[in-house]
Amino acid sequence: MEICALCEDQSKKARNGKPHEYLQKVDAPRVFKGLKPRGFEEQDYQCQTCRAKFTNSTDKNDLSWTLWQG
Ligand SMILES: [Zn+2]
Repeated sequence: MEICALCEDQSKKARNGKPHEYLQKVDAPRVFKGLKPRGFEEQDYQCQTCRAKFTNSTDKNDLSWTLWQG
């Protein structure tokens, strides 16, 4: 699957990078309150240009932006 240049950049962003302008939120954030003291959230995004999907996680042990191929 081809992804656009903005998504290419997004997949390399460091923690707390902001979503690029064509990334739109998909559904509500998922909140995890597990073993960690404060829990964390995941938010799905989809690109309106190339339809690539990302998940943004606030979990400190996770990558901030995860690209879902296909
Ligand atoms: Zn894209």
